[in-house]
Amino acid sequence: MNNDFIKKAELSLKEKKTHLEQELSSFATKDPGLRGDWDTKYPRTPEGGLEEAAGEVEEYSTNLHIEFSLEVQLKNVNTALAQIEKGAYGICQNCKTEILKERILAIPESQYCTTCTKKQ
Ligand SMILES: [Zn+2]
Repeated sequence: MNNDFIKKAELSLKEKKTHLEQELSSFATKDPGLRGDWDTKYPRTPEGGLEEAAGEVEEYSTNLHIEFSLEVQLKNVNTALAQIEKGAYGICQNCKTEILKERILAIPESQYCTTCTKKQ
């Protein structure tokens, strides 16, 4: 993997990171105690009665699912950025072979090669 390619991947990782953090901050607050952990804002005490309360709780649980998936993506992006710094980017965490460029281009935060992903 050459430097130009890694630079390109790093750029798209950074863009992705900004985007993910923006999305997360729209409905979650960064947990100050845990690095990289976000908490979905719990709805305020509703003023519109029970019906509105049920709607807000539903929205909260939907947000929790979205938060989890965004958080996982953000963690992988951060891991990949750290790997670029260490010069260990693009290596499968399981079998230690180089991840295909096509895969990196599609998912720059990939931690596993195509073969290992299929096995999971
Ligand atoms: Zn692998």
